[in-house]
This record gives sequence, structure tokens and C-alpha cells, in this order.
Amino acid sequence: MKNVAYQDDGCISLMRTKIIFSERCLGYGTWHVEGPQRVKFAHEFLKERKYEFLEPEPAEEEDLLRVHDRDYLWNLRKGLVEDSDTPAYDNIFEIARLSAGGALLASKVYGFSLMRPPGHHAGVFGSALGVYTRGFCYLNNIAIAVKASGKRTLILDVDGHHGNGTQEVFQGDSKVIYVSLHRHPHYPGTGFSSEGNCLNFPLPADCGEKKYVETLDHALGIVGEKFEVVAVSAGFDTYQGDLASLGLSEKSYFEIGKRIAGLKKKTFFALEGGYMGEKVGRGIDQLLAGFES
Ligand SMILES: [Zn+2]
Repeated sequence: MKNVAYQDDGCISLMRTKIIFSERCLGYGTWHVEGPQRVKFAHEFLKERKYEFLEPEPAEEEDLLRVHDRDYLWNLRKGLVEDSDTPAYDNIFEIARLSAGGALLASKVYGFSLMRPPGHHAGVFGSALGVYTRGFCYLNNIAIAVKASGKRTLILDVDGHHGNGTQEVFQGDSKVIYVSLHRHPHYPGTGFSSEGNCLNFPLPADCGEKKYVETLDHALGIVGEKFEVVAVSAGFDTYQGDLASLGLSEKSYFEIGKRIAGLKKKTFFALEGGYMGEKVGRGIDQLLAGFES
């Protein structure tokens, strides 16, 4: 069952996906590549496109503890965790909690969380699977939402980087299948092969839409039916020229959205990467247009 609503006359209509957003996620890191502009532009573009917006609440401590180690959370709150690409900004713990809350709300209304910081490189103890940095991530938003739901879930990670944090959290979890298409070799250097419930599809730089969509079709063809919900780690740094370019265009995101719709399950989305300002909003719009088509 896709994201549908029942009308008074008993007919089924497809609901337009709601966007989860708070201005509060724009208040840090103006100098950083993972800066506020990318989400600010996307918000403005999606507002013009007449999407409906919802405000998230911060995730609760118990939500975070289903995914992250207590000591890691304590250190994050105190501003004691920093690495070369993931600064300890003032109040980042509170903003990260709000971003995780965005994914939680998206999982409840089957919406799209347009929040930052992103999450898929954050593992149980911070940096994941032996990778030195957390790749701009503090809390693993999608993992927090999936754990809170307790539902059998397919996590589809279409960010251009491998979600090493998400794989670490769900490795061996019988309720979750993790599928990631990502550029390799590239940061974070993990995800070269599949391991158990984590199915990894490394792709060469700038491989292009045809190869990407063929790989996605193959991946979704082997995941079976044993999940109720699809959770999408929606990254747009696969766009031609972006940080993890796989040579995709706006039209490619429409094609990806159509494939996700083809799974015919309730679906929600959380933003990961995508660093080329106005491209992020257009990518989201195309992904959702394909999903709702
Ligand atoms: Zn990425």
C-alpha cells in the first residue's frame, strides 16, 4: 500500500508527500560545505511548488538510545566530539535532535524530512565501521526513525556515499534490509561488498543514469517482500558535479522515485547529502513527482 488517503466517496487518492522543516536547522555552519544554503534554497523552491510543510519536535533521549551509545550522546551534548569534517558547533546536539525528530515525524506521516545535519555516517559510537570521521553527521536520523517504528523496513540509501553508520546500526538486524547504491572507491571507503542483510552496490564515479537505474532495478528485484515500510536516505550528491557524483540529472531522480513507488509500500524520506544549493530542491521535487506519478 503506497502513501494513500481514503476520500469520503470511498475512492483512494494518492497523498502529496508533506515536507518536514524547521528554520532552526539553518542556524549553523555557514562556512562549511554542509552549510545552510543547500537546505534554505530547497525550502524556498519547494514552497514555490506549493508543498505542505510540518514543523518537527526534537527526538527524545529514549529515541536516541535505541541507536546510539549513552557515552557518545553525553560527549556530543557537551561538545566534546569533533573530527576534521564534523565540527562541534554550539548547540549542535539540540539541532541534531531536531533533525532526528524530523525523520521521526516523516516516518509517522510518510513525509520527507528536509532537515540538517544529515545522519547516515553516524554509527553507534559516532564514527562507524572503523572510519575516522562522521562525514557531517551527528545522530543517525533514519536509523532513529526506523528503530522507533519497530516495523519491518527496507532502508534504501540513494545518497552517493555509503551509509556506514546505518549499516553498523542494522548489521544482522532481522527486521531491516539495508540497500545502498554509492560511489566507490570514495569516502567513507566502506560498502564494497554486501554483508548479510546489508546489500551494497558500489558504482564507479559518474557512471550515469542508465547504469544507476539498472543497478537500482537489480537491487530492488532481490530484496523480496518481507518489509512493511520503505525508509529512504535521500541524498542528492549523486548529481553531476556534486561531491559523490554518479552523473545523475534531475530526470534521474524522477526515475528513482518511480522505482520506489513500484515497491507499493508506505514510504518516508530523510535528507542526507546534496551540496549544490538549488539542485537539492529540484532533486527532491523530481524524486517525489516520480514517486507520486
Ligand atoms: Zn553523501
